This record gives sequence, structure tokens and C-alpha cells, in this order.
Amino acid sequence: MSSDPITSDVLALLRDADPEIANLIEKEGERQDTTIELIASENHASPAVMHAMGTCLTNKYAEGYPGARYYGGCVWHDQIETIAIDRARSLFGCAFANVQPHSGAQANAALFLALLQPGDTFASLELSDGGHLSHGLKVNMSGKWFNPVHYPLHYDTAHPDFERIDYDAVERVCMAHKPKLLMCGYSAYPREIDFKRFREIADKCGAILHADIAHIAGLVAAGEHPSPFPHCHVVTTTTHKTLRGPRGGLFLTNDEDLAKKFNRALFPGTQGGPLMHVIGAKAVAFGEALKPEFKRYQQQVKVNAKALASALTERGFRISSGGTDNHLMLVDLRPKSAELTGADAERWMENAGIICNKNGVPQDPRPPKQTSGVRLGTPAATTRGFREPEMARIADWIEQVLTSAGAASVTGRVREEVRELCGRYPIWSTGEPAAARG
Ligand SMILES: *Cc1c(COP(=O)(O)O)cnc(C)c1O
Repeated sequence: MSSDPITSDVLALLRDADPEIANLIEKEGERQDTTIELIASENHASPAVMHAMGTCLTNKYAEGYPGARYYGGCVWHDQIETIAIDRARSLFGCAFANVQPHSGAQANAALFLALLQPGDTFASLELSDGGHLSHGLKVNMSGKWFNPVHYPLHYDTAHPDFERIDYDAVERVCMAHKPKLLMCGYSAYPREIDFKRFREIADKCGAILHADIAHIAGLVAAGEHPSPFPHCHVVTTTTHKTLRGPRGGLFLTNDEDLAKKFNRALFPGTQGGPLMHVIGAKAVAFGEALKPEFKRYQQQVKVNAKALASALTERGFRISSGGTDNHLMLVDLRPKSAELTGADAERWMENAGIICNKNGVPQDPRPPKQTSGVRLGTPAATTRGFREPEMARIADWIEQVLTSAGAASVTGRVREEVRELCGRYPIWSTGEPAAARG
């Protein structure tokens, strides 16, 4: 049985209707309960957020925007979407929001349609340096129909900014290629982003500046990472990572003309009917993020990330760029063991109940299916109430599992210790956000 009350409620109903799926949901609830989630892009949404998603809102077609729909019967949906928009605007301090993108990649696809013509040049960080596949990967629409040019990190180990963005090189790349769009915001970058510097470069080369804050949105909302506003022209994000809402996307801007362009590019440009149950849940999540507890939660996310990074450093791992300013870190496994790959580490840690993803480190000589690193993040573990002492235990467990090369005797023992710790920190046992439980 799952400790989260919503999954338990739903299971009670579903067991009769569809025992096969009910059984699998129950197993997933148990997996989440008894393992430590360190995937940097994941979190545990609150029971209120999950509840809003599981409602009659899913039944409605509401194509269009509040007050201008293509279907009747949208009176309550107009109010729900308007509240979601207003809360998003106050959360991020901007004038316009579109809460309809089905996901972060969908928001980015609509942005390309809104701002670029096929073949147009844009600048971004490459996936292998910490970027996202929707920022110009060859197999993605962004890389197939548009012309990405990539700016580098500092790759020189002797440089004080080793593995951080090389802003002078960003400027050189942009002045050489004159991109229409300059993208910043990443999936595996552990340092603060200097939006002001990016804007100076965008102004110099005549680009529209876009921040994709999918990973750091919760930190930004809580004032724990500098805001992309007023520097960025357009902002996209997911709502389910540090922001701890339902799975979805969001678009933000202060520019009315760009807002209108994006709205048309999203609907009817790339999407049909909005997921109104998810928009209801977004409104609930934004409401949670506006509360003071959310700031304390985000502060602890950062404290925990720093604690985990330094505990791993003490145990002989190398943290890419030497540490973290946000919720995530890239752990370079090579100093610990030349043979150890990210793929092995991910599998052995999962056997021990510690969930993460293999991830290339910048300039990684190994292919993406192996990698020399893992990416770790603290948003989900912080939600369930873990603090610095638990981070030190996690670092111990990771070292034990990896130095034993995944030996069954070690992973088995750690699995039981992880289960015991998780048992003392049920994810949502009271139905209240963990930060509010204090
Ligand atoms: C996660 C992520 C996305 C995509 O989000 P999906 O909801 O999975 O489509 C986009 N951009 C960045 C930088 C991300 O990290």
C-alpha cells in the first residue's frame, strides 16, 4: 500500500474496475515510498496537486483561451485557467503567462514556430554539455528544421571557470553566426546562469533571448536563483521538476507582442485541446509555491545539494565544475575508478534503492549509453524531509555500492538500510507538503 493518500484512495476504487493496472500502480507507489529519488528532474507532487489531476476536469474540451473558446460549457474552465495564469504571473513576476503547454518540449516547439522560420539560426548549449534535446539535437525538430549553433563551456582544466559557461565564447559564437534566437537554461548545469550577461550578448547580435528554466523554475519562483526577468524576452519551463507541480509546461513573458505570437503558435499552431485537469493542478501547485514554506523548501534543496556534493568530494568523487549552486550536480566517476561507467553506477545504485540517471560529463569520452558520470539532484529527497545528515548517509551508501562494484552482499544490505530510512520519512503521510511539516 502506498503512503501517499491520493494513490491509496484511487487504488481503492481502481482495484475493482481494473485490478491489473491497480496492481501496477500499487507497486509503483511502493517503489517510490521505499527508494531514494535522486533524479534531478523529478519530484513528489503534493496530494492536492495529484488530486486536482484526477478529476472531472479531464472530460472537457476547452480549445482556445479564457473568454475565447471554441466549445460551450467552459465557464468554470475559464475561471480555473485564469487563476492559473494569474498565479503564474505573480510567482514569476511577469505580465503574460500561457499555462497550456503539455510539456516543456511542447512549449519549446511552439516557441520555435512563433519566432523562427525553417532554416533560421539559433544558439544554444549542446546536449552533451548539459543542454536539452529540444535545444537543437539533430533528431529533434529543433535540430532537423532549424540551424543550431552551439556555444561552449570552459574546457581548460586550469581555467578558474572550468566547466562553466564561457560567456566570451557565447559572444564570439553569436557575433559570428547572428542567431535570431539565443537560448540559455539547461538540463545538467549546476551553476547559476548570468541572464544579464546573456542579454547584453543578445542585444549586441540582435537575437531574442530565451531562458528555458525547466530545471530551476522552483528555485527562481522562490527567489533562490536569479530571475530571468527583466533580462529575457521569453521564458519556457516545465512545471513538474523543482516547481513540484503536475507534469506540464509553461510560457512566460513581459512582451505583449511575443505573448500573442506564442499563444497562436501553441494553439492552434502545435496543440489542440488543453489538458484542463493538468491546468487545474498547475493552479494548485502555483498556489503552493506562493506560500512561505515553499521558499524554505527550495533553500533546503540547495543546502542538501551542497551537502551531498561535498560529502561525495570527500569520498573521492569529482563534482563537475567543483560543486553546485542549485539543486543538481554531475558526479564524475573516473577519479574513483577508471573502469566505472555511469551505466553501471545507475544500475548498481538502483539495486540498492538509490535512483539516479547516468549522464555524460562535459567532454565525456564515453558514448551516451555508457557515460563517465551520473547526475544527482535533491528536489525529491528534500520533499520527503531529508536534510544534511541524510545526504551524508546517501554519499556513504553510494561509495559503498560503487567501490564494491555492485556486489550483491553490499547492495542487499544498503537496500535494507535505505528501506528503513525511507520508512521514517513517508513521502506525504500527512497530506501536507513536507516543508510545512517542519
Ligand atoms: C526537462 C526539460 C525540458 C523538457 O521537458 P518535458 O516536459 O520532458 O518535455 C525542456 N528543457 C529543459 C532544459 C529541460 O531540462
